[in-house]
Parts: sequence; C-alpha cells; structure tokens
Amino acid sequence: KTLLDVKGLKTYFYLEGKKVAKAVDGVDFSVNPGETVALVGESGSGKSITSLSIMKLINKPGKIENGQILFDGKDLVGLTDKQMTNIRGREIGMIFQEPMTALNPVFTIGNQIKETLIRHKKISKAEAERKAIELLKLVGFPRAEETMKEYPHQLSGGMRQRAMIAIAISCDPKLLIADEPTTALDVTIQAQILDLMDEMKKKFNMAVLLITHDLGVVAEYADKVMVMYGGQIVEETKVEELFLNPKHPYTTGLLESLPSLEKEVDRLGAIKGMVPAAHSFPVGCRFSDRCPHAMDKCREKNPELREVEPGHKVRCYLYE
Ligand code: SF4
Ligand code: MG
Repeated sequence: KTLLDVKGLKTYFYLEGKKVAKAVDGVDFSVNPGETVALVGESGSGKSITSLSIMKLINKPGKIENGQILFDGKDLVGLTDKQMTNIRGREIGMIFQEPMTALNPVFTIGNQIKETLIRHKKISKAEAERKAIELLKLVGFPRAEETMKEYPHQLSGGMRQRAMIAIAISCDPKLLIADEPTTALDVTIQAQILDLMDEMKKKFNMAVLLITHDLGVVAEYADKVMVMYGGQIVEETKVEELFLNPKHPYTTGLLESLPSLEKEVDRLGAIKGMVPAAHSFPVGCRFSDRCPHAMDKCREKNPELREVEPGHKVRCYLYE
C-alpha cells in the first residue's frame, strides 16, 4: 500500500503586480512504506516547495492551489492547522538544511526532545527523559545525559543535525522528510549524517523523502528518484535506471556536471543558463531555452510526463 500519494499538486505564490510564481505546477508521485525517494534538481526547481507543501508549511503569499496529498489514506490538503500539528512531528518527521533554525536556541536539547515526546506521545516526564537519553545515544551522543543539558549553540553543525534526527524520529514517524539535510555541513560529516539517517530509516522502517541537489547522494541512498525542473517532474525512475539510462536532456546535463575521476576536464556547469524564475517560464517546454536538442515544437507546447519504458517516465518530445 502506498504511504504518500501526491496528485496534481500545484503551489503558487501571488507576487506583486499580479505575477504568479508557479513554484510547484502539477506534481504527481508516490512513496511506498520503507522506501527512500529522492527529489533532485537545482535550487529554484520547486523541490523544497514540494516538501513544504506536503507538510502544509506554505505561508502567504503562497497557497496550495490544487491537488491532493494523500498520506496514509487521508488528504492533508483539507486538514486544519490544528490537525496538521498532530501529523507533523508525529507521523511525518522533518529534517532541514540548517538545524539552527529548526532547533529552539533558548531550550536545551533534552527539553526539545522531551517536549516533542510529551506533546505527541502523551507520556510522563520521567518516561520522556529516559526515552530522550536513549534516542540521543542511538544517534551518536555517547554522553547523552550531558547532551540533554546543552543548548543548540554548544553543539557543532554535525551534532546539531544528529540532535535534529533524534527529534525527527522520536515519535516513530512513518515518513521522514529531509530537505538538503547535509548541505550546510563539511563533506566528511555529510556522509556520517546520511549514513545515520539511513540506519534509522532501516531500524524504524520509515519511508524517506530526500530532497537534494546532489546526484551522488541520490546514487548512494535512494531507491527511486524524481528529477524536478521548473516546478514539474521531468523524469522519474529507479535510481540505477537513471544513472544507466538517463533520458531527459536536463538529467543528462546534471549527470555530466557530476565530478568524476575518469573525466579530465572539470565539467561543472555543463548545463548552460539558469533555472527560469517560476513567474516567467519559457513558453512550451520549460527547459527549452537551455536544451541542446530543442526543436520548434518544444517552444510551442509543454510536453506531458509519459511512461516511455516500464517504470520510467519522462517529459520530453524526444521520446514521443
Ligand atoms: Fe529539450 Fe524539447 Fe525535450 Fe524540452 S521537450 S527537453 S526542449 S528536446
Ligand atoms: Mg531548497
């Protein structure tokens, strides 16, 4: 059974001068229990807005314009803020890029974990204390009793992210949404944090929606991947398939810009140009102004996302 089923999601931002930024513009995908699904794309492609929409954290001038977000059978789009508060943190755990903004600077790490546990699990303070220490040990704080009394600023970036993971998994969520969880960290720490997340995912049988711009991270940790561009999914398939048999010219460009040992030249920046702003997409295919294969019809009508091989979807006229 599907855990998360996003259907026709549109999240728009109403800007000054009657401009509408179609940050997420008709996104469909699903996540199965225990699966790691990656949303990949450059910054501005709509992947963070997709994850924020799922958690219903879109504020004015933004709005979920259309679509369904079926989580465990219920449509989150219609839920009230209060109902969503019960789902966020309990059924859906979240990890963000910068834990400093997600952790409250004036409360100790211990109090923040305990607060989450007491709010969602309705357990006693003593039980929450015991469980919080257990969680901190699990995510790699050997002196957890002392960490309980520390404030976020006393921890390093990597340690803060470990504490965030402890909070995110504290209520056994079915889904963990991780938006660029390691982008702000040193390369050596990044792998440790991603490994920890993966270990916790397996231990607690969570599904993970991993938002990243890093295809190396996708290759290592994800089962399925969706490539986003211009607020839409342009390619979706199993991870191995994406690397062996990429189809969309944008995906190919991303793969070519990956640093590789065999390549002599630095290919970073293989895709020319910039992600278009969400209020001024080109007419037709949204990648047409950067695509080396663009044809006349590409500049007339945006292609549909179509399944061109079993389990492999692509939005491009080259495959029609
Ligand atoms: Fe390129 Fe055309 Fe395919 Fe768009 S539809 S990616 S412009 S070939
Ligand atoms: Mg982002």
